[in-house]
Amino acid sequence: MGAQPHGVGARHPLTMRIAVVGCGVFGLGCAIALRERGHEVTVFERGPIPHPRAASTDVSRTIQRLYGDRHDYIALVQAAEPVWRRWQAESRVNFYLPIGHVFLASGQDRGTRAGDSMRSLGLAPIPVAEARARFPQFAIPEDATVFFDDWGGYLVSADAVSAMANLAEGLGVIFREDGGVGTIDERTSGVDLGVGDRTLRFDLAVVATGAWLPTLLPVFRDSIAVTRQCVAFFDPVPGSEHLPGALPVFAIDSGPDRWYGHPLRDGRIKIADNDLGAIVDPDDAPEVPTAFADSARAFVGRWMPGLAEGRYAGSRACLYANTPDNDFIVDLAPGHRRVFVAGGGGGHGFKFGAIVGEIAADRIEGRDHPLGERFRLGARLSPP
Ligand SMILES: Cc1cc2nc3c(=O)[nH]c(=O)nc-3n(C[C@H](O)[C@H](O)[C@H](O)COP(=O)(O)OP(=O)(O)OC[C@H]3O[C@@H](n4cnc5c(N)ncnc54)[C@H](O)[C@@H]3O)c2cc1C
Repeated sequence: MGAQPHGVGARHPLTMRIAVVGCGVFGLGCAIALRERGHEVTVFERGPIPHPRAASTDVSRTIQRLYGDRHDYIALVQAAEPVWRRWQAESRVNFYLPIGHVFLASGQDRGTRAGDSMRSLGLAPIPVAEARARFPQFAIPEDATVFFDDWGGYLVSADAVSAMANLAEGLGVIFREDGGVGTIDERTSGVDLGVGDRTLRFDLAVVATGAWLPTLLPVFRDSIAVTRQCVAFFDPVPGSEHLPGALPVFAIDSGPDRWYGHPLRDGRIKIADNDLGAIVDPDDAPEVPTAFADSARAFVGRWMPGLAEGRYAGSRACLYANTPDNDFIVDLAPGHRRVFVAGGGGGHGFKFGAIVGEIAADRIEGRDHPLGERFRLGARLSPP
């Protein structure tokens, strides 16, 4: 069709034929936003959706707004929340569980996540005696800072991705689930995708391949670090206070302990370590190191003794795609005018999946999204 690509200048773009590569939360979010604006959108995924290896799959992802004094992230996740609610209502899939979020920290000084988040959100610490009565699941030290944000919760991630795919299909997005994209070549009048033995031409490609971004666009090889992250599951003792309804989403940031967790709908508790894991090749199936089970058990023993009496029910590994500054990339790929990137979600991208597409679509259409500045590339990936 040969329409002028994304905007960088074009304020009222023609309808474009756009390929979105990757059907995780970022790719599907972009597909929905671009289709809603009238573009012809084809999405490519190398297998079933949700894909078993996608970071967006898994069982659950926290949605919270404890971003310290980074007010643009707070505004962004608050803008995502009504979209998640709308998509939940439209899809009739109950994937959004705003069950509240309790945070346990070792201090509340300025410059700490706990202190800055409480100040930004107007939240107050809960006196320790009251916190112990309210959250008996935790061994709360005398000097702990505890606060609760009833805004937070979690998203049942695989269900949310399936719901997004169904919504996208209903809007007229074309799906190619046999569509592992091997190559992307930008030409003067379009961008060519190599899919199997075929070459398909589009006006613009959005690359949203998560941990496989550097595989498809080697320009990101030195700047995106792919790390293996592990999660563990515990079955609480039946009848304990860890059952859904009694326990909110939780995060602990105290000394060496930086863990978080979710009470899943089936009664199982998921916990995970917030620290970055080992750098890995995304094409090697990530395995959970044996030491992880020991550290998960030790964490539970220190902070959730009642849960430690339950059963360790297994673990799984998943991949973060980390940018050097931990901010996402929603911008043209370096040196390109028809290849756009939505990625670098790291360990916190999922909750923004309902809004990242709007930022991408604005940028593609030549507008500045009011909250999109942080996600432009500029000189962010240059060596220091
Ligand atoms: C253990 C863990 C815990 C996390 N916890 C949270 C949390 O609590 N809250 C939160 O907000 N975020 C969390 N995150 C981060 C969040 O899950 C990710 O940032 C987000 O899901 C990334 O989405 P994505 O669409 O960029 O990538 P992905 O979901 O990985 O999707 C990329 C897709 O591209 C496909 N693909 C790859 N190569 C090709 C190709 N060549 N052709 C076609 N398709 C291709 C893949 O199959 C995949 O489906 C967590 C991540 C992990 C790993």
